[in-house]
Amino acid sequence: MSEERRFEVRILAEYCKGCALCVEFCEPARLYMHKQPDRRGIQTAGVRAENPCTGCLRCAVICPDAAIEVNRVEDIVGGRLASE
Ligand code: SF4
Ligand code: SF4
Repeated sequence: MSEERRFEVRILAEYCKGCALCVEFCEPARLYMHKQPDRRGIQTAGVRAENPCTGCLRCAVICPDAAIEVNRVEDIVGGRLASE
């Protein structure tokens, strides 16, 4: 049986400045930009549930504001990281 790794991506919207770099670098198009601005007037990044995340970490590395978390699903227990 082949091992399938699944990843959870989270945008920390309060740190997102809407530069769209993460969207540009996400090959499977898991990420997108919200059309509606938030209360700060910024169109932040969002996560598409239907497109799989490969865990490549490009988005997290490229984000200038450290506004993206990528975790393996197996490491998340009850909504929190198993190491917490
Ligand atoms: S880790 Fe890779 S595949 Fe997953 S959302 Fe970020 S850029 Fe896209
Ligand atoms: S790279 Fe970071 S700051 Fe830019 S849109 Fe994506 S999450 Fe927001």
